[in-house]
Amino acid sequence: MNESGTQVYPWLGERWSYLARLHDQQRLPHALMINGPQGIGKRDFAQALSRYLLCQGARGDAACGTCRSCVLFDSGGHPDLFQLSPEEAGKPIKVQQVRDLTGFLHSTAQQGGYRVVILEPAEAMNPSSANALLKTLEEPGRDTILLLVTHRLGQVMPTIRSRCQRVDCHLPEPAVAQQWLCGQLELESDKAQQLLSICLGSPLRARDYIEQDLMQLRRKFIEGLADILKQRRTALEVAQQLAKEDLELLLGWLYGWLLDIVRVLGTGDESCLRHLDANNMLRAVSRKTSAQAVYALSDLVHQERVSLMQRLNPNRQLLLERILLSWSALVR
Ligand SMILES: [Zn+2]
Repeated sequence: MNESGTQVYPWLGERWSYLARLHDQQRLPHALMINGPQGIGKRDFAQALSRYLLCQGARGDAACGTCRSCVLFDSGGHPDLFQLSPEEAGKPIKVQQVRDLTGFLHSTAQQGGYRVVILEPAEAMNPSSANALLKTLEEPGRDTILLLVTHRLGQVMPTIRSRCQRVDCHLPEPAVAQQWLCGQLELESDKAQQLLSICLGSPLRARDYIEQDLMQLRRKFIEGLADILKQRRTALEVAQQLAKEDLELLLGWLYGWLLDIVRVLGTGDESCLRHLDANNMLRAVSRKTSAQAVYALSDLVHQERVSLMQRLNPNRQLLLERILLSWSALVR
């Protein structure tokens, strides 16, 4: 099922077969909510499903790859595919965009088959754009299917959620993820395992780490935290250096490290540290701090991460500086 530009990863194969079977029996619901954690390939799944539904020569559960529809799809210009995403990253989908979609659905399918809509991320709708979508979700018209994609189902308006059939996707089993990653990147299996632990089991994120050199950013962050503890640099200096980076990512890492410290404090066993790349620093902190202080900081990190996710537009540098100050206070 590995086709040009569209992929169904092995761990989503079962979901794929299920939907292909429904399609075959002409029982596919007209609105699907493809839901699951980040970094498992939901977007690629939605793309592959669109290609399959639009294909005019599909065999079994795979698109043919050669019909006019597949060629159009692969060229990126299929007239019966409508993709709806925020015009600017982090901003909501606008009412006008939803109206454009309605206009599209009122026209006839140009290739005479399905019309497919991919809406992503589904949580990026404000009440008015969600309202504008409701009628379409209820009666999208013949041979039309809407694919909504989200990793924050809780933030999707209930009125939208209740009108879609959920397709829950899950993280792969560790062994499956590891095997896939080794094959993709020609990694040794222990390196792959370490990378997956950093990425909370997400294989695609692990691949991005290597491809986008996120390990370098992670090392920079660890260095910054260590410098603060050793008073080589102040929290302000480190916050200035890192404020423009992906703070959601940095705080996610910090949260993982704090859990590691709590684990050591709870068990008294330093060998239970999971994040080996920050091992020395975490061990040193765990010898000088209290569980109470670590929990307080974890709560703060969690709160600030949520405020970033909800795009409350906090002052990024101040936010990071506040957290780094609490970090430095852990060992005093
Ligand atoms: Zn085809």
